[in-house]
Amino acid sequence: LSQLFRPLDLLGMVYRTIRQGVIDMAAMFDLIDTPSEVIDAPGAPALTVTQGHVRFEDVRFGYDDDRAILKGITIDIPAGHTVAVVGPSGAGKSTLARLMYRFYDLTGGRITIDGQDIARVTQASLRAAVGIVPQDTVLFNDTIGYNIAYGREGATEAEIVAAARGAAIADFIERQPDGYETRVGERGLKLSGGEKQRVAIARTLVKNPPILILDEATSALDSRTEAEIQATLERIEQGRTTIVIAHRLSTVVAADEIIVLDAGRIVERGTHADLLRQAGLYAEMWNRQAQERAEQTLAAE
Ligand code: ATP
Repeated sequence: LSQLFRPLDLLGMVYRTIRQGVIDMAAMFDLIDTPSEVIDAPGAPALTVTQGHVRFEDVRFGYDDDRAILKGITIDIPAGHTVAVVGPSGAGKSTLARLMYRFYDLTGGRITIDGQDIARVTQASLRAAVGIVPQDTVLFNDTIGYNIAYGREGATEAEIVAAARGAAIADFIERQPDGYETRVGERGLKLSGGEKQRVAIARTLVKNPPILILDEATSALDSRTEAEIQATLERIEQGRTTIVIAHRLSTVVAADEIIVLDAGRIVERGTHADLLRQAGLYAEMWNRQAQERAEQTLAAE
């Protein structure tokens, strides 16, 4: 069920993903009519991003009053750095990403961007500065060009094509008889998981946000597609402050800092090499995944 309650970087307040990843605009508008718990403070100024320095300061949060999910999280992400968040299922990784986008308000602490508390600036300015590549991308029953342009109102055709190139999906689109006018979705072209992710990446490139959240898909892509998507993501992280919610440890090795979350607390932190040396939870997860990979390779041979 949790797969159906992922936040989406679409119209701001949408929490639901339709299983096949395709919905009509009408359904979409029903979803965004959901009242928001988060409101702009009266007279809130717009966020001004100068560097893209992100700080989580003793962040505390629970979806319900009686159950704390994050219990005092402090993370400092200098501009342009990449922090990866790993940990067991239910640790609070995706919650951290949702809070960065202010889907919810904190119960304690604060999150700042270049020194400005994200709860004190307008939501619109915050969400313009933060791009999310979600786990499951929802596509509209519209053209593929429209789906990419969705990243930013007023995107030009040239920007759409450049984004498609950056996301390595331009060749695929240009092979379709109708090119960027090809309809996708229920009544059009069906896209694979990897292709949908590329559309999400292209959308983010159109948006060109200084701060990026990558919520890695748990659903398995084949290993070649996964490696290609990973290479694309590494390119788009360049020059942006990035938080990667990682489910596969193989994608976090190069992060500037890895945060290991367990039951809402940071239990280890450091680079990949630091954490392997510590021989704790991360090293254990790493060894387990390495073993699984080896077994899969053997099985495939
Ligand atoms: P996974 O690796 O399985 O995606 P995660 O570390 O990302 O897990 P979260 O999705 O952040 O974990 O969830 C942390 C906890 O918060 C879980 O116990 C989950 O059940 C709970 N939770 C998540 N979303 C909600 C929600 N909308 N309402 C209530 N509880 C929620």
